Amino acid sequence: MVQNVDLLIIGGGASGMFAALGARDALRKSLVPDHVFTITLLERNVRAGAKLRISGGGKCNVTHEGEPGDLLLKGFFDKAEQRFLKHSLYSFTNRDLLFLLDRYGVKTAARPDGKIFPVSERAVDILKAFEAMLLDSRIDMVYSCRVSALKSDAGQLTVDSSRGLFSSSAVILAVGGVSYASTGTTGDGLAFARKLGHSVTDPSAALAPVVTKKTPPIDLAGISLRSVTLFVSAAHERRERRGDVLITHRGITGPAVLSLSRQIAMLFRKYRSAELFIDLFPDHAPLELQERLLLHARKNGTQMVRKFLQSAPIAPLPGSFESFPYGTIPTALVPFIMQHADLDPDVRWSELKREERKSLLDVLKQFPIGVVKAVPLDEGEVSAGGIALKEINPKTMESRLVAGLYCCGELLDYAGEIGGFNLQAAFSTGWTAGKSAAERLAEGKYPTASSSH
Ligand SMILES: Cc1cc2nc3c(=O)[nH]c(=O)nc-3n(C[C@H](O)[C@H](O)[C@H](O)COP(=O)(O)OP(=O)(O)OC[C@H]3O[C@@H](n4cnc5c(N)ncnc54)[C@H](O)[C@@H]3O)c2cc1C
Repeated sequence: MVQNVDLLIIGGGASGMFAALGARDALRKSLVPDHVFTITLLERNVRAGAKLRISGGGKCNVTHEGEPGDLLLKGFFDKAEQRFLKHSLYSFTNRDLLFLLDRYGVKTAARPDGKIFPVSERAVDILKAFEAMLLDSRIDMVYSCRVSALKSDAGQLTVDSSRGLFSSSAVILAVGGVSYASTGTTGDGLAFARKLGHSVTDPSAALAPVVTKKTPPIDLAGISLRSVTLFVSAAHERRERRGDVLITHRGITGPAVLSLSRQIAMLFRKYRSAELFIDLFPDHAPLELQERLLLHARKNGTQMVRKFLQSAPIAPLPGSFESFPYGTIPTALVPFIMQHADLDPDVRWSELKREERKSLLDVLKQFPIGVVKAVPLDEGEVSAGGIALKEINPKTMESRLVAGLYCCGELLDYAGEIGGFNLQAAFSTGWTAGKSAAERLAEGKYPTASSSH
C-alpha cells in the first residue's frame, strides 16, 4: 500500500528538521490549520540529528555571530557558493535560529572568535530543543526508515523505503553528504539525484585531517605550530592557509589543515601528487628574514644556530624577533630544521657559509611536512561536492529539473569553513525548502494527499 502525504522530507539531520519546521511555520503563517496538511519526515536512524549530536566535539558550534553577509564571506570561500546561499542565509538567519533556541530554553553564547555554542556546551540540549519543536509542529517522524529509491512520474514523486512506499507531490531531499558514514550519510541522495537527471560533483573531503606518505617522526607527533602558514604545492599550483597546525602520528590536523583540506584534496586528485610545507615566519618576506638572520649572525657569531632556533619566536610580528605572540619554535622541531637545511648540529653563526644561511632561510620559509597520501573523505566534518548548484533555484531550493523536488543541506555542492557555518547553511537551506514547498501547498499548487488517493 502506498502512503500518500502532502509533504515528504527524506533525512532527519539539521536541514531535514528545519525543512519540516520551516514548512509548518509557513503553513501556520498562511492560517492553514495543522490537520489540513501532513508533513512526514523519514529518517533511517532510530533518532534524528546523529551528526548534530557529535558536532563541535559534542558541544555543537551551532552557528556563527554576525550579519548574514559576514557569514557568507567568512564561511564560504567560493563565490558561486556565496551567491547560491545568500537568499537562504538572509531568509532564515543565525538570529532566527538563536531566537527559536531561546524560546525552547537553550541559552547560547558567542566566543571571541565568533563561534556560537549552547552555554551548557552540550549538543544534546540543542537536539532535545529541536525534537520539542518538531513535536509542537506536528511533524510525523518515521524512524528506522531507509529510503532506497526516489522516482518522479507525472508530477508525483514516489519513495521506496524499508517502511514501504510513500507518495507525494512535494519531496524535500535532505540526506546530507558522505562523510562520517556511520552517522547515516552514505551518499544515497547523490545516487537518487543522479537517477533523476541531476549533475553531481563527485564528493571529496573537506574539513578533514591529512595523511602523509611517510609518517611524521615520532618526536614531532603531538607538537602544535601556532599561526603558521600551511601550503600545498602540486605542479605549478599552490594554495595556502594561515592558522594552527598540529602534527599527528600519521600526518597533520588542526584549524589550518582542516580549512585547507578541501583544496589539498582537489589538487591531490588533479595531479595525483601534492606536497605540504609550513612557513614558520609568515609575516617576514624572505629578504626581510634574510637581513634579520644576517644581523643576528653578526651580533652573535659564537652562538650555536640551534640555540638561537630553540628560543626563536614562531610566526613573529612583522619587523621584529622580539615579540612572541605565538610562543617559540617547538624544541622538538629544531633538529629537523637543522637536518633539512643540511647543517651541522653544532654549527655557530660565524661558521655558517652563505649557501648554508640560504638553506636555513629556505627551510624556515618552507619546512617540508611531507607528500600527501590521502585526505580521508570519511573523516571530514563535511564533504565537498554534491548536487550542482545551478540546477537548484536558490530562492526556493526547488530542483530546476524535477517538479516538486526540493534539495537542501550538505547534499548540495557547497562546503563551509569550521565555525558553525555548515550547520547554519543546513538550517537556512532546509528552512527555505520547507517554506517554499509549504507556500505552494497552501496556494493549492500541489494536489493534496487526500485528493491523490
Ligand atoms: C564530527 C563532526 C563535527 C561537526 N561539527 C560541526 C559544528 O560544530 N558546527 C557546524 O556548523 N557543523 C559541524 N559539522 C557539520 C554538520 O554537522 C553538517 O554539515 C550538517 O549536519 C549537515 O546537515 P544535513 O542535514 O545536510 O545532513 P546530516 O545532518 O548529515 O543529515 C542527513 C540525515 O539523512 C539521513 N539519511 C541519509 N540517507 C538516508 C536514507 N537513504 N533514508 C533515510 N534517511 C537518510 C541520515 O541518517 C541523517 O540523519 C560537523 C560534522 C561532523 C561529522
